[in-house]
Amino acid sequence: KKGETLGVVGETGCGKSVTGLSVLVLVPPPGRIEGGKIFFNPKGKPVDLLSLNEAILRRIRGQYISMVFQDPRSALNPVYTAGDQIAEVLLHHRRKELVQRALERISKETEVGKAGFLSGYHEKVLQKMLKNPNALILLILSKIPIIKRYKGILNEEAKKEAINMLKIMRIPDPERVVDMYPHELSGGMAQRVVIAMGLACNPGILIADEPTTNLDVTVQLQILHLIKELKEKFASSIVYVTHDMGVIAEMCDRVAVMYAGNVVEIASAVEIFKNPLHPYTQALLESIPTPGKPFKSIEGIVPSLINPPIGCRFNDRCSYAMEICRKSKPKIVEARKEHFVKCFLHQ
Ligand code: SF4
Repeated sequence: KKGETLGVVGETGCGKSVTGLSVLVLVPPPGRIEGGKIFFNPKGKPVDLLSLNEAILRRIRGQYISMVFQDPRSALNPVYTAGDQIAEVLLHHRRKELVQRALERISKETEVGKAGFLSGYHEKVLQKMLKNPNALILLILSKIPIIKRYKGILNEEAKKEAINMLKIMRIPDPERVVDMYPHELSGGMAQRVVIAMGLACNPGILIADEPTTNLDVTVQLQILHLIKELKEKFASSIVYVTHDMGVIAEMCDRVAVMYAGNVVEIASAVEIFKNPLHPYTQALLESIPTPGKPFKSIEGIVPSLINPPIGCRFNDRCSYAMEICRKSKPKIVEARKEHFVKCFLHQ
């Protein structure tokens, strides 16, 4: 829903990250999307992302839906500076706005230098640029000083905006950090740069795939608070993928619990913690370590998704399993108001 944070929770290997990648139609081969639809509602009219071509999808990724990956080090390109990588996103998706700013600046310079260095010919080129700043002819004429100047100013504007994004991410000394390479950044700073790239175009949906997993606890908390604040500031909806119920409690409005590739329960976060209905959700909550109580883990392992069990996929680990659970698949039903569950105990 617009403006909400949806938590997607489940054990490692249950398909949370693949779900995030599927939404962006980015499942890496040999994986592929076999069926189904992915509805997205950017301008009041739902579209199925799977029906769009790659060129349109490239516009949607980053501008409307973006993703922050688990490991910032592998998400960043080691041979480009932090600023270059944020600017690349800006130049791709917010080009129009940056071009406008660059042309306004160059126009002002023209006014100042009219009687001086700018000839009538230069003025003609400027008029052409104002009409179509990306025209092929301008690329061909790129040796002309005014066009060189325009390109320089465009990059300066992108860098300015990248510094601004780093400031919003609360990175100290952003003017210095903008020129740093990923290996010069701490884990927390690198993750903030990745989040800046994700939010650079103010997307409607940000998919955050365990963005704090590899960070130490204090930095983790800072990043969680930052994401919460940014959600308000950018009015984005967030899909927060995690295996950590503590993070879910801290961050999410609604929760989808996944098991072996399926959503088995979905409800508000308060409802999930107060009235978990699915035996897997109950087991997940019981496995949170509590001081003074013996640690309780979920027995068994997540089944192979290549040959998933027949019937309910949780049947070999569920202490309530019945005959029917080994033969048929339960359907997802609304067991309580806005509380959906996929289990025969509630059908
Ligand atoms: Fe357990 Fe059966 Fe419910 Fe699956 S459908 S969670 S096996 S009770």
